[in-house]
Amino acid sequence: MANCAIVGINWGDEGKGRMVDLLTEDYDVVVRFQGGGNAGHTVINEKGKFALHLLPSGIFRDGVVNILGNGVALDPKNLWTEMQDVMAKGIEITPDNLKISDRASLLLPWHRDMDELEEMRLADKKYGSTKQGIAPFYSDKYQKKTILAGELFYPEELKSHLADLMEWKNLTLTKVYGAKPYTMAMLEEWLETYCEKIKPYICDIGAFLKEAHASGKNILFEAQLGSLRDLDYGIYPYTTSSNTTAAYAPIGSGLPSAKIDDVIGVVKAYSTCVGEGPFVCEMFGDEAEELRKNGFEYGAKTGRPRRVGPIDIVATRYGVEVQAATAIALTKLDVLSYMDKIPVCTHYLLNGEQTDRFPFPSALKNAKPVIEYFDGWKCDISGARNWDDLPKAAQKYVTFIEKQIGCPIKYVSVGPERDSIVIR
Ligand code: GDP
Repeated sequence: MANCAIVGINWGDEGKGRMVDLLTEDYDVVVRFQGGGNAGHTVINEKGKFALHLLPSGIFRDGVVNILGNGVALDPKNLWTEMQDVMAKGIEITPDNLKISDRASLLLPWHRDMDELEEMRLADKKYGSTKQGIAPFYSDKYQKKTILAGELFYPEELKSHLADLMEWKNLTLTKVYGAKPYTMAMLEEWLETYCEKIKPYICDIGAFLKEAHASGKNILFEAQLGSLRDLDYGIYPYTTSSNTTAAYAPIGSGLPSAKIDDVIGVVKAYSTCVGEGPFVCEMFGDEAEELRKNGFEYGAKTGRPRRVGPIDIVATRYGVEVQAATAIALTKLDVLSYMDKIPVCTHYLLNGEQTDRFPFPSALKNAKPVIEYFDGWKCDISGARNWDDLPKAAQKYVTFIEKQIGCPIKYVSVGPERDSIVIR
């Protein structure tokens, strides 16, 4: 069978975790290839309800090997805490079903401090960071100022490397931000408390994936966030600090030669966006509050209320293009069941002209949404399992979106549970 990437088409929180959890049945290996513990996937299955941040969503399936690739921001503290939470709910995590790339860079304790200090400095100009240290981590990775997970196996060299990095980072912490410096004792405690715990899971992922690929294993690549948060293609600077696109999956996973056959783009039936930045289709007031409540749109990591709006065809079409999606999973259609009329942002108005093209980030603040309304279906659709179970108005809504974004909608999700799905 083929390799597949499951990616977000919009601003994140589309329900990727739910789709990975469903589709892992057909895969042997699930790889996270970018991002860190700054967002969350919510997964509900027969084992319970879980909020995952770093662990791949295949962790619940017996026989699936889950991988954290070299492209992730590997935060030992967050990861170990999350592993303990998941294990406490009866899920087995061993070096057989979780493997960490020796080439993944470690998110160091000061990365979280740097994130917090910089957001404080920015005050009302802040980016809306989740303060998990992701941006400082990736900046340092590209400056070659982090530690590779595999260095934990070379303790002498590791200590002197950490001491050098600490000396450098303390300059910024103390002289730029007036914060307290780190000491080696603090880092040694961090190594002992967290890094030692994850060490048994660290291995040569390149070799593992090469072997898995050669022996015909099916590999699923799991992305975090969505197209519009991609560092290069998103709404910069309100993006994340990594590439959320399927094209990055082979690089960030440890199998740069991998060919990705299927790209499943996850699109939410309406729009949500966490944090700051332009969000053309945003709804406000009671209308927004009602949608937020019905969709339970509060951040998995932060609990922050998400900004909401109707589905944005312009942004979604762009997201599909950027991901080179071959099929779409449309999620949370059931959430719209309360609406009499369903708004859809079909175009943007920019400088007095109607456009279908997603504008350059700086132009987005001047774009206005053009809204069309569709008939609602006003009934519970969460029990639908076949296309014909969906009311005509819901079918019309789905086929309209499909035509507009130019990619087949293969899955329609009508609830958070594993089997609440219509497969076309
Ligand atoms: P991810 O980061 O893309 O995995 O998305 P999140 O986990 O942040 O957000 C998706 C949320 O919607 C989770 O709470 C899911 O349980 C829930 N969810 C996913 N699909 C559906 C669906 O079709 N209907 C409903 N009502 N909830 C869903």
